[in-house]
This record gives sequence, C-alpha cells and structure tokens, in this order.
Amino acid sequence: MRDKTLCVKHPKVSHEGFASLAVPTYRASTIVFDSAESYANRSKRGPDGYTYGLHGTPTSRTLEASITALEQGERTVLVPSGQAAITIVFLSVLMPGDSVLIPDSAYPPVAGFCENFLKPRGISYRIYDPMVGAGIADLIDDTVKLIWTESPGSTTMEVQDIPAIVAAAKARGVLTGCDNTWATPLYFKPLAMGMDFSSMALTKYVGGHSDLLMGSIAIKDLELHRKLKDTMRMIGMGPSPDDCALALRGMETMGVRLAHSGRVALEIAKLIASRVAPGLVLHPSLPTSPGHEFWNRDFHGASGVFSVIIPPHAEAALPDHLTAAKTFSIGASWGGTHSLLAPMTITRSTDGSAHKGTILRISIGLEDEADLWADLLPIIESIEADPGLLAQTA
Ligand SMILES: *Cc1c(COP(=O)(O)O)cnc(C)c1O
Repeated sequence: MRDKTLCVKHPKVSHEGFASLAVPTYRASTIVFDSAESYANRSKRGPDGYTYGLHGTPTSRTLEASITALEQGERTVLVPSGQAAITIVFLSVLMPGDSVLIPDSAYPPVAGFCENFLKPRGISYRIYDPMVGAGIADLIDDTVKLIWTESPGSTTMEVQDIPAIVAAAKARGVLTGCDNTWATPLYFKPLAMGMDFSSMALTKYVGGHSDLLMGSIAIKDLELHRKLKDTMRMIGMGPSPDDCALALRGMETMGVRLAHSGRVALEIAKLIASRVAPGLVLHPSLPTSPGHEFWNRDFHGASGVFSVIIPPHAEAALPDHLTAAKTFSIGASWGGTHSLLAPMTITRSTDGSAHKGTILRISIGLEDEADLWADLLPIIESIEADPGLLAQTA
C-alpha cells in the first residue's frame, strides 16, 4: 500500500490481554460487511443487528441493555432528548383520527407537541386531571389509543394511581406509557406495573452532570420495539455514541447520587414544611403531597427534586432571593451534581386541585447541605412573613 492509503487504512492491532472497565466508544456512520452478499442481506439483521451507525453501535447497545435490565423490559430505544422519547412513542402508535390522553401535570412541551404538531395532522388529545385514578375509564372512547402518564408530575408533583390507570386501559385495549424521569427505574418500574412504555430523560439523573441530552424508551413487547425502531429509521434519528458513553459513565454513579440527593432533598423539604404550611411543600414522601399514598405503595424511594408553592405575598421578593443565591444556580433541567432553582408559572386546563401561580422547583445536587439551606432560608422567611397563611392552607 502506498502512503496516502496507509493514512486511511489503519493497521489492525491486537486486543489480546486488553481488558478495561470502561465501555469503549464506538463511533460509526458506515458499518462494513465482509461480503457483497451480507451487504445485500443487511436488512435481515433486524432491529438488533448492526447495519448503519444511526441505528446503533456496541456503545449504544450497551446503554440500551443496561436500561432494559433496570426497567425490567425486553428492549430499549435511545433518542436524542427526553422530549423525543415522548414524541417518538406518540408518533409510533397514533394515526389520524386517533387520540391520546395526557395528564395536566405532564412536562409542559408534551401539550405543546399535541396542540401544535399532532392536532394539525388529525391526531387529537385530551388533558386529564393527574389524580383521576380509575375515573380515567370515563375518558376512554373509541379514538383513544394511548394514555400517557408522568408520575410524579412536573413541578406540581402529583403521584398518579398507575395500577388503576393500567387496569382501565387494558380493559379497553389502550396502550399506556409513563415518563419515569423523576424516579428512574431505581425507584419505580412502570413496565412491571403493566405499562407498555417507560420513558426517561437521560438528560437528568442518568447523565447526571448537566452536559448531555438523551432519552430512552423501554418496552417489553417486541412488536412495539419494531414500531419505535421503524419510526426512528424513517425520521432519521439516532443517539450519538459519545453521548451514550457519557450516559454509561453517569449511570455508574446514579445509585449513590440519587441516595444522597434524595436524603438531602427530603431533609430540606421537611425543614421547610415545619416552618411554613406543610401543604406548600410538594414532595411525594410528605403525607400532604398529592398522591402520597400511591408513592408509598408503588415507589422504592424519592429522588432529589421537589417544589415549594410560593404564596402570592412572597412572589414579589422571589426574583431577588433567587439572584442572590450563592450555591444554587438558576436554570431549567435538573438531576445534575449542581443544585438548581427554577421558578415555574403553573396554569391548568382541568379543574384539579393543583396550585396555579408560582411554584419554585428545587433540584438538590451534591453540594454541602448547609450552603444550600443558607440560600433557601430568605425565601422561606418571606413565606413565613404572612401570619394569616398557616390558618388558610393548613
Ligand atoms: C426534562 C424532562 C423531559 C425532557 O428532557 P430533555 O432531554 O430536556 O428533552 C421530559 N420529561 C421530564 C419529566 C423532564 O423532566
């Protein structure tokens, strides 16, 4: 071979005796075949085979297999964001004329996708009260093909009665899915409770370091897996192997990060609840938090994200307190090593009991608890400042 060819064709080196604990990052667009015949037959390799980098490399397959094991599923599909994990499910199972039920507490861009993308294409949606439970049966008509859940809900933290929703859906042959980002499969396993899809924003706790975007969809049914993979192939969507490697690294420490953040978050939530009206603190392991009994029954733990309702008298002071915070940063997304505060404005489509107005979402990271409390104290004091409030909200 001549020099310019040698620049391109790397010599094969021995892998013998090399064993690393790290998962190698296999980058590929092209996958090469050892014969013209195997190339011609590449589609026979099926959704689990390697045919093109977009559809998977050993790095993405390792991440898929880890999530599949944790979620107690049969397969996992990886997508480039948590939002895509939701939209790819919807796009794979809904056809014009069909409809989907989504909870009022869903990650807000889900309703945006339904209103602005699905509806103009003839797929309708209905927003339901996340605390509806078995009452979901009354909302299922012949057009409903999917019931989406998110438990606990974004910011308002309602824990849903998943077994009751699964039972109602199964009775009518309707598919169900759960956004499992908050609990992760360490603390909740939607597939084991009969859900068809369990999605996660790996962006949050699995990545764990606020530096990657990815989503996952775990399934038990191989036919649903094939449908999801078909959608991904047709849309031309696949995860980056480098991001998969980061997610694999993040997942190795997820257990201890969640245990730590969960413990500190609960301590802080209890401390706040002891100083303001307890109903203002939205943390599933507090008895006053909506759906606490379902969390108690179905979950194995709580992660490090919870919320505090900011009553109207404390709203004006909040921006200055947030800006003054030294340890917390202000920002969306959560689940990383850095603690975050995000003031959220809550609106509702159903007449459920959730607070409408400002709710402060708190994501606890890995910093020292005393530093975190120092940032929160002025906010708590501003809530305490109204003596009439305890009586109103108790
Ligand atoms: C952040 C989040 C998502 C979206 O994840 P991205 O990777 O940011 O698209 C979806 N669901 C929940 C519950 C989330 O918190």
